[in-house]
Amino acid sequence: MVKNPELLIVGGGSAGMAAALSARKSGIQDILILETDPYLGGVLRQCIHTGFGLQTFGEDLTGPEYAGRYQDMMEEEKIPYLLNTPVLEILPDLTVLAISRTEGYLELHPKAIVAATGCRERSAGTIAIPGTRPAGVLTAGTAQRYINIEGYHAGREVVILGSGDIGLIMARRLTLEGAHVKCVAELMPKSGGLTRNIVQCLEDFDIPLLLSTTVAEIHGKERVTGVTLAPVDENLKPILEKSWYVACDTLLLSVGLVPETELFSAAGAEIERGNGLKVDEKLMTSIPGLFGCGNVVKVHDLVDRVSRQGELAGRYAAEYILGGK
Ligand SMILES: Cc1cc2nc3c(=O)[nH]c(=O)nc-3n(C[C@H](O)[C@H](O)[C@H](O)COP(=O)(O)OP(=O)(O)OC[C@H]3O[C@@H](n4cnc5c(N)ncnc54)[C@H](O)[C@@H]3O)c2cc1C
Repeated sequence: MVKNPELLIVGGGSAGMAAALSARKSGIQDILILETDPYLGGVLRQCIHTGFGLQTFGEDLTGPEYAGRYQDMMEEEKIPYLLNTPVLEILPDLTVLAISRTEGYLELHPKAIVAATGCRERSAGTIAIPGTRPAGVLTAGTAQRYINIEGYHAGREVVILGSGDIGLIMARRLTLEGAHVKCVAELMPKSGGLTRNIVQCLEDFDIPLLLSTTVAEIHGKERVTGVTLAPVDENLKPILEKSWYVACDTLLLSVGLVPETELFSAAGAEIERGNGLKVDEKLMTSIPGLFGCGNVVKVHDLVDRVSRQGELAGRYAAEYILGGK
């Protein structure tokens, strides 16, 4: 039976695991992590490329390797966690309602909570591309999960919209899987991705990056058959007279990440203008005892910074509990 923890952590990604370890180091014995997925590590588990941990471990690790190091430290410290356990609701008095595959319905009353739910991708619906809605329009993270975790192909002739890091990394990943990535189109005049990813994921594979260009229309009935690409004017509106058609069976969208804040905003926590959880200098939200870290506060490019913020949130949450406030 699950007993009430002093500190409850929502989300077992890099932020949540770092928070748990640091809270334990700061003197909190009674910790519990609740995680929706059947594994710890969050988005790291599907990022099988290298580029993780240069600051934290001084090594160039893959996402699963980085997550594995933290999981090993968690096992060493015997920090308990429940997988397949989504948190359904949080009440302003810090009551937590969750449903666990093994434990059933849970109502917990921790003294403090760390929010570490990460972020989600913006989908086709949120950017309202004209045209049909056939199969083959996927977010880049979904395609990454299909290929790297579930072992499916995402498509053969691919256009990617958005040149943030996920779009760039998926251009390379799909190419290595045998797909033909025809181009990466980017609405803005500059890519939002890291330079190393532009070089290693596009230039090394001769994949064209089309700046100031967008998808003006999606074509296809059951499956995508092509997209219309168009350059954009200074107001980011497509110049349709200059548009052209590209045949493809897959459109990958990498058009932004949104912090996963709904659970906490529904409890009354304030949200920042950039859409993350609003936190003070001790990473506490507007609800006393509710702390935040990682991508639910601000979308981070580097996992090392997420882990560092998780450590701080764990320490501040411990101070809060030990101070009896
Ligand atoms: C494609 C991609 C490539 C990247 N490449 C690099 C790189 O090369 N180098 C680098 O340093 N960084 C990279 N990053 C960034 C870094 O990996 C992430 O910023 C970091 O891992 C995010 O950690 P997090 O814990 O905040 O979120 P997540 O890893 O998303 O973890 C959040 C967890 O919360 C869980 N959760 C959500 N809601 C609930 C709920 N209601 N109840 C219970 N659990 C819940 C989720 O299932 C998830 O496991 C990359 C990120 C992506 C997406």
